[in-house]
Amino acid sequence: MRPPLLNPLFAGASGLKGIGEKLDRLLAQFLRPAHATAGTTTRIIDLLFHLPSGLVDRRFRPSIAELPREGVVTVEARVMRHRPPPPMNRKVPYRVDVSDGTGVLSLVFFHAYADSIRRALPDGETRFISGKIDWFNAEPQIAHPDHVVSAEEFGRMPLIEPVYPLTEGVSGKLLAKAIAQALEKLPDLPEWQDPAFLQRHGWPSFGAALRALHHPETPSAIGPEALARRRLAYDELLSNQLALSLVRANMKRAQGRSLPGTGDLRRRLIAALPYSLTMAQTEAIAEILRDMGSGERMLRLLQGDVGSGKTVVALLALAAAVESGAQGALMVPTEILARQHHATLSRLCGAAGISIALLTGREKGKAREEILARLAAGETQLLIGTHALFQADVHFRDLGLVVIDEQHRFGVHQRLALQAKAGGATDLLVMTATPIPRTLALTVYGDMDVSKLTEKPAGRLPIDTRVIPMSRMEEVIEGLSRAMAQGNRAYWVCPLVEESEAVDLAAAEERFLALAARFNGKVGLVHGRMKGPDKDRVMAEFKDGTLSLLVSTTVIEVGVDVPEATAIVIENAERFGLAQLHQLRGRVGRGSGKSSCLLLYQEPLGETAKARLSIMCETEDGFRIAEEDLRLRGAGEMLGTRQSGLPLFRMADLSVDGDLLATARDDAQLVLIRDPKLLSPRGEALRILLYLFERDEAIRLLSAG
Ligand code: ADP
Ligand code: MG
Repeated sequence: MRPPLLNPLFAGASGLKGIGEKLDRLLAQFLRPAHATAGTTTRIIDLLFHLPSGLVDRRFRPSIAELPREGVVTVEARVMRHRPPPPMNRKVPYRVDVSDGTGVLSLVFFHAYADSIRRALPDGETRFISGKIDWFNAEPQIAHPDHVVSAEEFGRMPLIEPVYPLTEGVSGKLLAKAIAQALEKLPDLPEWQDPAFLQRHGWPSFGAALRALHHPETPSAIGPEALARRRLAYDELLSNQLALSLVRANMKRAQGRSLPGTGDLRRRLIAALPYSLTMAQTEAIAEILRDMGSGERMLRLLQGDVGSGKTVVALLALAAAVESGAQGALMVPTEILARQHHATLSRLCGAAGISIALLTGREKGKAREEILARLAAGETQLLIGTHALFQADVHFRDLGLVVIDEQHRFGVHQRLALQAKAGGATDLLVMTATPIPRTLALTVYGDMDVSKLTEKPAGRLPIDTRVIPMSRMEEVIEGLSRAMAQGNRAYWVCPLVEESEAVDLAAAEERFLALAARFNGKVGLVHGRMKGPDKDRVMAEFKDGTLSLLVSTTVIEVGVDVPEATAIVIENAERFGLAQLHQLRGRVGRGSGKSSCLLLYQEPLGETAKARLSIMCETEDGFRIAEEDLRLRGAGEMLGTRQSGLPLFRMADLSVDGDLLATARDDAQLVLIRDPKLLSPRGEALRILLYLFERDEAIRLLSAG
């Protein structure tokens, strides 16, 4: 239960002045994108956590004679003359001339109500006017001043105004007003950070930090290095590390079991492989087997770039579980991938005598019942599937090892749910190809044990990557045509343009029709909305070579393995994250053929976008690509929830605050060693921190164990 102290922060913002139902919805979609459904509403805390991106400094107060060429100024002057437009002529603006004795400044209003202008600027009165200066025929003017106030009001007006990121339909003034009201609801919270630590950094309290950012007193008060920002960033990082440490502690508390295996099945599997394992694969398997053989529960991450051969590592680990008399499960994020893994692993398992089954959302009715019965009886030794594996009625006789493939595609929530379901002593191996820079790995995995596949299977040729404007599409298609004539296969990826599947789909379908008209009968289309069997058929036809060009949305991004495919065209490449481009490119270069990757972009292309795409041409090293992407775009974007399901920080910017991460991890670990249940006064305050950043699942683990 959330402490009542926090209730005012999690209350709806709809009670605030100026926030009607419509605005409430709009703000919710904008400020809580991860939760956005039609009924989502805005809460006070969402407003408080919406930090300014800049500010307007109104402190410069020149006389009219000294007005600068441009910029924001505040002028004190007397109203001299109203110059309304001629009647019926809406094109001419309403002008008001004001003077301070050194010169005349004219205020310009288009489409304005004369009444309200007269009320704001009565003849002969002195007013403080603030806005952006403009020059027209060598006369200074301010069009639509931001503020026109009396001396008395001016005394109360902040001269430094925060500027907030906006969304359509929400004005800066409205948002600032709502946030100012939200600030008044902020209760006094106990301090959860170590006082000596705060003092050393000169950081303010949580409340003072929020106030300092929303009501800045100097321009430097809101910069990325501002003490208030750093404080809040650290709060967020600490809550993240604390939550991860709690998850880990909870899992480690569960008694492990030893699954040493006999080596029999593994020997047969290795004999059936058409290749020999790489050094990196052999080492990773040894690390995994050491964990499985020990009495402690395994919690290991296998990180390996696309095409490095993670699947066979997983298979050998699963075989060791089976050798020990237990069952294994392999969970993957998509239906296509589940079927592909099932097909390749079935062949190998057949050779070794391991019984394997597939379970996805598509197995239904009788067939599904049979699969479940065999599983419960222990006749099925390996189960492969999507998250359908962890539905309530799926019971294993004795589940020893769970492997999660492409695990970055699963959200944190799913991962926690799965870990709860796997429960007991089940070992856990998660695999990812997302090359996560070290700093980020910490935020996502905490201190999970990590194995890395640092080399790719021998004999792979580099992928020839080129960046090409869309205007040269015709040449690209010519090139494809030649490649296909020589019997090569290719992917054509259509981007996610809108945040709406329907629109993206239309784009992919259109491209498919155009290409199908050109390459009669050789082109297929796959996308996420297709019915399962249709998808299978197209994938199978591409795999066996009936089709030689596969048009798709990003459904092929993860894991699809067709070694004969040697070219990939990615449309609107500038819209993809680099990590995602790297994943997509990893669909080719998997066999012995020379492969190419064409990144098509829409002109004009900005400098940063150009720099990003050119990194793709320079390197195939996923880690370097990720580091560069992080540097160019910042962590938030790189880890956009849509792309990766990874948590997105609201306060911390890892390109600035990454240095705080290791401290936060050490801090979290120390806290839990001293106070594993968070019962001390600081522990209690830290619970509040966890709730503030909505790490509620982690708190539940505290009471569970
Ligand atoms: P990923 O790490 O991206 O999941 P996969 O496991 O799909 O990679 O392997 C990519 C391709 O490399 C597959 O076609 C697989 O059969 C092949 N492969 C895996 N290990 C080796 C190896 N040691 N030597 C040669 N080919 C390998
Ligand atoms: Mg894979």
